[in-house]
Amino acid sequence: MGLSDRIGRIKPSPTLAVSAKAKAMKAQGIDVVSFGAGEPDFDTPQHIKEAAIQAIADGFTKYTPASGIDELKEAVCEKFRRDNDLTFDKSQVVISCGGKHAFYNLAQVLLNPGDEVIIPAPYWVSYPDMVRLAGGTPVILETEEKNGFKLTPQQLDEALTEKTRIIVLNSPSNPTGTAYTSDELQTLSEVILRYPNAHVISDEIYEKIVYDGFTFSSIANCGKEIFDRTIIIHGVSKTYAMTGWRIGYTAGNTDIVKAVSMLQSQSTSNPTSIAQKAAVAALNGPQDAVSEMVKAFRERRDFTVPRLNQMENVTCITPQGAFYAFPNLRAYIGSGYKDYRINNGYDLAAYLLDEVKVAAVPGDAFGAEGYLRLSFATSMDEIKRGLDRIEEGLGKLKG
Ligand code: GLU
Repeated sequence: MGLSDRIGRIKPSPTLAVSAKAKAMKAQGIDVVSFGAGEPDFDTPQHIKEAAIQAIADGFTKYTPASGIDELKEAVCEKFRRDNDLTFDKSQVVISCGGKHAFYNLAQVLLNPGDEVIIPAPYWVSYPDMVRLAGGTPVILETEEKNGFKLTPQQLDEALTEKTRIIVLNSPSNPTGTAYTSDELQTLSEVILRYPNAHVISDEIYEKIVYDGFTFSSIANCGKEIFDRTIIIHGVSKTYAMTGWRIGYTAGNTDIVKAVSMLQSQSTSNPTSIAQKAAVAALNGPQDAVSEMVKAFRERRDFTVPRLNQMENVTCITPQGAFYAFPNLRAYIGSGYKDYRINNGYDLAAYLLDEVKVAAVPGDAFGAEGYLRLSFATSMDEIKRGLDRIEEGLGKLKG
């Protein structure tokens, strides 16, 4: 049976593919160290689980409004007030099945054929595909490692056209951990405001995972005009170790939020009722578990990044946020070992998985050839073993 042209525009998610492969190898008894999955290794905090159990006991197991329950929308508004000094009414919030779904929906409701979406690279793997699926045109802007992988105002200015509909910002970034300061965001916002059709999708899912006293800010904080043109996407997955619960949220312009709600009413219907109750407990409840997890991520980062930089022909910037190291392994492109030829990051990742049983996502999937993404949201023991193996694997490559 033939498939639609639309589905032919996308490929499987490389992050999910690597995680699935590592899991399958482990299930076969192979000792794989996985740096693949972008998810906290911690369990969801107990009080959040209990809220879900209570919801089941109370019979809160039926449809909810397609856009989510008021109680959770209010918790989201309160979170923005408390943490970000941003005021949203609950009519400006929609709850979705994870941050990915939030982005997907926005692409569907905002893009017409020919509309351009500016995506700074390295980017999270799914943005360009979701844009293509919606009929938009991704415009990839390569950033440089020496600038900390930050988009410069000049670069943005040169790329903006009257066809630009969306600029995607993801700070802290998956995969580089780069985070923009409020001054940097201010300068970018001044450039964007010169283009009346351009909107920002600000993916703030890693907001809480920042290091060394970095102060998170949102571009929506850079004045009323840019606030009106920004749509924030966020979720509970990374902050509260809730990846499997699938709760994300969108906040912004009421008409856009209404359109997303309508789309959900004709597609997914509501996000899981029980998971919504758990998300209320996550946002409104005690936040100590978050700081404990961030402390552990920082310790792991502080081990991982110097260890990578000690390896021959490897450089790695220190991420300011998120839980990924993004080493530059370009020096190994063109090398080989036995029958393995390393022509790009995909080959390198496949070689490391085969030869030393380490799973990592090729940087090429994020628009950065010859890099690897290592998620350090795994135990220190695994990190140590995995990095030793990477060093051993790289050591064998010659040429
Ligand atoms: N965002 C995570 C990652 O980058 C989860 C997997 C996904 O949906 O891509 O690994």
